[in-house]
Amino acid sequence: MFYSDEGANYLVQYAKSMVDEIAKNKKIPNDFISEQYLIFAGMLAYYGFDHVQEIYDVFKKTAFVSNTGPVETCSNGAFSPAYCQTEAVPLPGNKFSIKKTIYHTHFRGENYGHFVEVLCHEINHCINSIRHPFCRRNSLPVYRNGINVSYLDSGKEEAKYLEEAINTIQTGEIMKKIMMLGDYNIKDPTVRSSIRSLANYKVGDLGLGYQTITPIVYPLYCDSEFNYLIKEERISANIRDITDNFDSRVGRDSFYELAEAVDDAWQNRNVSQAKRAYQLVRQYHR
Ligand SMILES: [Zn+2]
Repeated sequence: MFYSDEGANYLVQYAKSMVDEIAKNKKIPNDFISEQYLIFAGMLAYYGFDHVQEIYDVFKKTAFVSNTGPVETCSNGAFSPAYCQTEAVPLPGNKFSIKKTIYHTHFRGENYGHFVEVLCHEINHCINSIRHPFCRRNSLPVYRNGINVSYLDSGKEEAKYLEEAINTIQTGEIMKKIMMLGDYNIKDPTVRSSIRSLANYKVGDLGLGYQTITPIVYPLYCDSEFNYLIKEERISANIRDITDNFDSRVGRDSFYELAEAVDDAWQNRNVSQAKRAYQLVRQYHR
C-alpha cells in the first residue's frame, strides 16, 4: 500500500485529519484518539480508499470509552479487556437505529500492542456491520454483526463464533498494516510515538484470542476466493453471496452447518464438532 516515506506519511495525515474532524463534532464519548489515528490508517491500508465511507461512518457513530467501571466477562468466563455494547433503539414505523459503544478496560501490565489489537478487533466488527445492520430473516427482524445474525424477538444468534474467528484473523492482517508504518519515517510526533510503543509487538497470523477455533477457520480464510468474499461482501452486507458460495462448493446449507459446528466447538469445547467444522473447511478448500 505504501512504498515510500511520502506514501506512509500521506496515509497517516489523511487518517489523522479524518479522526480530528470527526472529534470536533462528536457529541458522544470519544477516548483513545492516538489509537484511533493508527487504526483508521490501518483500516484504510487494508480495505482501501473504496471503503473510506464505511470506515469514516464507524469512527463518527461509535462511542469510545476508557472504562473504569465494572468489567465484562466473555461467555466462557474469561476477562475481556474490550467489548462493544450494541443497543437497538426502536423508531416509529417498526424501524430501529443502532447505538454502539466500545469499552476498553486497562489492566495492570497490559501490553500496548495488545490494547491496540483488541480495540481494532471491536472496530472491525463495526465496520463490517455499518451497511444494512437490520434485515429480515423468515420475516423476523434481525440485526447483524458481520456475518453473525441476532433475532431481535428471541435473542437467538447465528454464526456468532464463526464471525469471531474470521474477525480475529482479519484483525491480525490489519495490525500488520499498522505495524508496517514502523518501517517508515513518520513525521507526525503523536503517531510516531504510538508506533514506537508498538515496536516489539508480535502479530500472529491467527490474530489474538479465540485460540481453539481460529486454526480451524484459517485455511478457509486463506482461500483466495473466500478471502475476497469475506473482505468485500461482508463489509458491503452481501452475506448471501458468502453463504451461497460456500454452499455451492460444499453442499446445501453447509455454511450454517459450519457456523453451528464452530459455535459448539467454542462454547462447549466440543471436539467432534471442531472436527466436523474442519472437515467442512477442507471440503471447501481442496
Ligand atoms: Zn469479537
